Amino acid sequence: MPGSAPLSAPQKALRKLGLSRDIDLALHLPMRWEDETRITALRDAREGELAQIEGTVTGSEVAFRPRRQLVVTLDDGTDTCQLRFFSFYPSQQKAMAIGTRLRARGELRGGLFGWQLVHPTCRPAHDPLPKALTPVYPTVAALPQAYLRKAVAAGLARADLSDTFAPGLAQSLGLAPGWSLRESLAFLHHPSPEVPMALLEDRSHPAWQRLKAEELLAQQLSQLVTKRERDALRAPALLAQPGGLHEQLLAALPFQRTQAQCRVGEEIASDLARAVPMHRLLQGDVGSGKTVVAALAAAIAIDAGWQCALMAPTEILAEQHFRKLIGWLEPLLAPRALRVAWLTGSQKKKERAEMLEQIACGAAALVVGTHAVIQEQVQFPRLALAIIDEQHRFGVAQRLALRAKMQAQEQEPHLLMMSATPIPRTLAMSYYADLDVSTIDELPPGRTPVLTKVIAESRRAEVVERIRAQVAQGRQVYWVCPLIEESEALDLSNATATHEALSAALPGVAVGLLHSRMPTAQKKSVMAQFESGETGVLVSTTVIEVGVDVPNASLMVIEHAERFGLSQLHQLRGRVGRGAAASACVLLYAPGEQGRVGETARARLKAMAETNDGFEIARRDLDIRGPGEFLGARQSGAPLLRFADLQEDRALLEAVRAAAPRLLDRHPELAQRHLARWLGGKSEYLKA
Ligand code: ADP
Ligand code: MG
Repeated sequence: MPGSAPLSAPQKALRKLGLSRDIDLALHLPMRWEDETRITALRDAREGELAQIEGTVTGSEVAFRPRRQLVVTLDDGTDTCQLRFFSFYPSQQKAMAIGTRLRARGELRGGLFGWQLVHPTCRPAHDPLPKALTPVYPTVAALPQAYLRKAVAAGLARADLSDTFAPGLAQSLGLAPGWSLRESLAFLHHPSPEVPMALLEDRSHPAWQRLKAEELLAQQLSQLVTKRERDALRAPALLAQPGGLHEQLLAALPFQRTQAQCRVGEEIASDLARAVPMHRLLQGDVGSGKTVVAALAAAIAIDAGWQCALMAPTEILAEQHFRKLIGWLEPLLAPRALRVAWLTGSQKKKERAEMLEQIACGAAALVVGTHAVIQEQVQFPRLALAIIDEQHRFGVAQRLALRAKMQAQEQEPHLLMMSATPIPRTLAMSYYADLDVSTIDELPPGRTPVLTKVIAESRRAEVVERIRAQVAQGRQVYWVCPLIEESEALDLSNATATHEALSAALPGVAVGLLHSRMPTAQKKSVMAQFESGETGVLVSTTVIEVGVDVPNASLMVIEHAERFGLSQLHQLRGRVGRGAAASACVLLYAPGEQGRVGETARARLKAMAETNDGFEIARRDLDIRGPGEFLGARQSGAPLLRFADLQEDRALLEAVRAAAPRLLDRHPELAQRHLARWLGGKSEYLKA
């Protein structure tokens, strides 16, 4: 802004914390409170007590043992206390000269020399005692607590806190009467010392309940608004034609769809038939057969004369995932003079130019690839359906870019996102409330449950024996190592070393190696050798994460399993148990320095050993990691819940969720004000 003074460091820090408006400051609530309303007489003090004392300075000297320090003696008439400062300014020393009346606050220690306070907070005794508890706000180094307190107090005084809850809403949510937003905020910033600290700290006080309800309402409203905005957009209505591509593809499939696949297929088809963009998440455990469902959706779009884009997070995944699909579709497209185009980062210029040309002229009905698909040069004249595999590995910006591919025509493509990491119900109700969800809750027949064993690294030799036995029976084995990039720093055994060791330990067995630093062509040939059964064991970094489909593989060994995330482990495990043979997953763990595996790592390994159910895994993952980690890219830039807790406040969440549409319908102006107040400019991100 011209003419305005440059921001000071604390002002910049305020901005960074997102505290730019008065209301932001008012909603910045304390993380704890200090009781400065009382003076404790030293005579009545208890060891270890956080106390505020007041007295006259009777001694002040700089001592040098054991190190340089200022020692001030304070006499409150009942006893004396030594205040010790290991760093101090001359001005502080002056302010605590003999004869001064001083108030000091800190944790009291008793001992040989009587009461002590180390680095207490001090202030002149003539300051009036506060009537309320003193708030301690979450802050950063550049923003002193005192500055922040003043800023929050000023924001609280100036902010518009008029009620946005329609009459009766608070009651219908089960909130205690008398706690409006204004009252709740005034109270939480400066609670009366009579309130039991526990009610404040466990956030069960009615004022907290009100804040949580407000926050949850903002979240529900913003998703509702997003959903309604989307419902107002136009997309091509795509109808499956009798005898069309959809039916032809069904007939060409080498298997019958499971009931679950049929059901979600119908859900998707009925979305596609509407002239409103689909926004659906297809979730299903690893191996549940999402790709077929996606292919059938693509067939509907293509049959109707439109283009379809399929995106996967990495090249190898894109290829692995879609090769079969293309194998099925391509013969059906050829008679219609349509083809499949590939777009990847590693493509030669000439090939790429050719692909772009085919896409631009509409000859490529199906476009498969990585992020390359959403780059600017890629022009889809008729994109009607975008399918994103492993959606959680794409960022919000990328999803927005994909949707923007059709906006020139005042239409949006239908969007189908696929994920093997199911969203736990609490998250689905909160962060993903704007999303329609289809779930494949059934595996194709003939799969055998995978037996999971957690085994210490010290028993590696036994594991190698097991591999030998599997290979002797004509089975194949995966051995997964953590990423090479990390191993340099963390001293993990890397894939190369493991490959050598296994090759040496298993004479006569062909052991392949696949890692992230290999050129793509080499990766592909290693994969091909494993798929054809030429190699019996495949050592790899997580590049195989979700992409391989070798039904003959019956053993999965994951080295340093303690370093992997839960959903990652679950996905890796999903690579075995695809055939009829009994399959196993061995989680090798290496105890850390203290001879133990960390608590969360242990919880992950335990979850893996106890369940094969992707939903249960996801639920536990949420418990272990919390929603912040879980949401990943979806929430970058959008606010996480600060006050409400999805597990603890589930009942409130359900009530708010039920009430939100009513508020939006009957009191749109209140809803708008509520959203502006709570989300400011941050709601954009929820639209992706
Ligand atoms: P994911 O959900 O993990 O993406 P895929 O779509 O890759 O699963 O399917 C896993 C394997 O199961 C593939 O080989 C696929 O061809 C096969 N498959 C899918 N649906 C069925 C079915 N109904 N019956 C038999 N095999 C199926
Ligand atoms: Mg898949």
